[in-house]
Amino acid sequence: MLDVRDISVGYGERAVLGGLSFELRDGETIVLLGANGAGKTTLIKALNATLPLTSGDIALDGESLAKISRREIARNIAVVAQENETRFPVTVLEFVLSGRFVHGNAFGWESEADVEFAERALADCDLSGYETRLMNHLSGGERQRVVLARALATGAKILLLDEPTANLDLAHQAMMFRLVRERCRSCRASAVVITHDLNLAAEFADEIILLKDGRIAAKGTPAEVLTAENIKDVFSVNVLLDQNPASGSVRVTNVF
Ligand code: ADP
Repeated sequence: MLDVRDISVGYGERAVLGGLSFELRDGETIVLLGANGAGKTTLIKALNATLPLTSGDIALDGESLAKISRREIARNIAVVAQENETRFPVTVLEFVLSGRFVHGNAFGWESEADVEFAERALADCDLSGYETRLMNHLSGGERQRVVLARALATGAKILLLDEPTANLDLAHQAMMFRLVRERCRSCRASAVVITHDLNLAAEFADEIILLKDGRIAAKGTPAEVLTAENIKDVFSVNVLLDQNPASGSVRVTNVF
């Protein structure tokens, strides 16, 4: 569990996030929504301790992140960043296996168990058969799935995903969210996912955090947070809300 207590974060003199508190419980998927520049990516960086806090604290299972080694954090928290430069001439399997380095043995090579982890993650991401393909010869969407597979292969119980569906087609967007939610529910893992797709958020989030200008504008279940008023306040657009007839979740339609 990650316990975020009254954190403020910025870049040098520039304050970006102010006074944020929330809990990421085991088994839970939180979706972060907000306009460009609201501070979503900055929050992901703070949750992974790659950006220092100006004030407040983040605890991983009760222990402050500030007191945990980088390696221990990497074992527990896997990040899929937005701008991953992944066009290396390495094979898909090598790339996914690199996610196992956080568990590396003294000799630095992978074990059979590591290869199994990697193969399972590839299969989960619909990438069986891609093992020997080169990363720099894949499409953007394929590369994005490989990056997710590497995050899954780490075995980390917390996943932080910054717009993981940005390059994916419709089927793979749903696959990605379903995979993350299943992983959270079945392995008591948890995830924070940034997306701009309000309907995917409505469908897959246990909790939504709506960020506005570095502060939490609303937090709660999709039905509590996705109101026309909140959406107008944060995104400055008018929407119609009803119920998705197939799933029963809130459905958001833009009024153009
Ligand atoms: P979001 O992910 O919601 O679009 P970001 O967290 O990327 O927002 O950015 C929040 C604010 O922080 C923006 O005003 C952005 O310009 C600023 N910012 C982001 N990265 C840096 C940086 N490295 N240095 C200074 N300011 C930054």
